[in-house]
Amino acid sequence: MKRLSLFCVSALWFAACKPSEESNVKAIVGAVLIDGTGGAPISDSVVVVAGSKIRSVGTRANVPIPAGSEKIDGRGRFLLPGLIDLHVHLGSTGGPGFRAADYSRERVERNLNQYLYFGITSVRSIGTERDAGLEIRKDQRDGNLLTARLFTCGRGFTAPGGHPSQEVGDIARQPATPEEARTQVTELAAQQVDGIKIWVDDLGGKAPKVKQPVIEAILDEARKHKIPVTAHIHSLADTMHLVENGAAGFLHMVRDMENVDPAFISRLRDLQIPFAPTLVRQELGWLYAEHPERLDDPDAANAFEPGVIAAIREQAKSQTGSAGARELFDRAKRNTRKFAAGGVPIGVGSDGGSSIDLPGLMTHREMELLIESGMSPMEVIVAATRTGALALKKLEEMGTIEPGKKADLLLVTANPLEDIRNLRKIQATMLDGQWLDRARLKMK
Ligand SMILES: [Zn+2]
Repeated sequence: MKRLSLFCVSALWFAACKPSEESNVKAIVGAVLIDGTGGAPISDSVVVVAGSKIRSVGTRANVPIPAGSEKIDGRGRFLLPGLIDLHVHLGSTGGPGFRAADYSRERVERNLNQYLYFGITSVRSIGTERDAGLEIRKDQRDGNLLTARLFTCGRGFTAPGGHPSQEVGDIARQPATPEEARTQVTELAAQQVDGIKIWVDDLGGKAPKVKQPVIEAILDEARKHKIPVTAHIHSLADTMHLVENGAAGFLHMVRDMENVDPAFISRLRDLQIPFAPTLVRQELGWLYAEHPERLDDPDAANAFEPGVIAAIREQAKSQTGSAGARELFDRAKRNTRKFAAGGVPIGVGSDGGSSIDLPGLMTHREMELLIESGMSPMEVIVAATRTGALALKKLEEMGTIEPGKKADLLLVTANPLEDIRNLRKIQATMLDGQWLDRARLKMK
């Protein structure tokens, strides 16, 4: 069985890797374990993985290392669950613009490998998926393709001519009536999507917004099919309407006001409705104009297609970041802090794949921005792991390092509780019980 896993890494990497067998046992020994629950780190830990699942977790004193297991020395290292990005758009180069013509099966696979490269073992592709993404998901779930786990919402909903159809065209569904919306939810249910996406944003009055009867029809029909609905929001009023009608989660943060009724925050906490604030999408309006050196990151050169970084560098020259945009960003950060402090689950979403939003790399920038908003490193780690699984409704299967869960693990060489950027210092990534060969991931 050991030979099978080596064979997978070296030869069959791009083709097929069947989930490893139960008899293939690995033990990661001696690492500081940060298990994703938010509990105190465990020093000198032992995590035993059997096949694709975590079998046992604890200290070296209380967890025996099975004879014959493959031992991995974790001393001086930090072991965490694989990271989860709740807000991605696949099939893009990550360069300027989001072009429908860029979407292909090959590029979706490259994107998923880019996420893996940066330690993100699961992503939720939210609203701009074409058929190739669904095929990839099937191949993964059949055990024929090993890359970041794809959860997909298929094609999301907006108003006729609404955001983001100006960028993504007809990938976004634009039903004119509640009846049409119901029919389209039924189509999505037939595709067994993992969620449904609605964009509810008039871009400050510049674009049509989905009408409330259409939103209510989508939520009602989705409920019948037991599919969670996640909404891109801007305003508090829309967020409240969506919650009252059963929305399961949100992308972006409330940005039109800060005077949020504490009772509403308590309700979000009680319902455990996650938000992925996606602050980085806002900051990208000026980030590279002010910090072009960020584009010199060696991982950017490793992970992205030729020309992409140069094109972003060129575009950055004309970026200004208006005072209004910066104020909205600061407000989103303050509301993120307020929601987090009020117990609302905060997840990590980067909008990776949207214009100049580099897949995976920007997931890490989003975590830095959550820290800047006032969350602690431990809270941000929980956001990127347990809360990701909560938002995906997969907490029983993933998101923390606990017995019975999928063995999606990240081993880093420096303490992320001291500096969240240490999550970039990746020694090894395990997906579905298999160590990945980071150097061989096909990304461009
Ligand atoms: Zn998005």
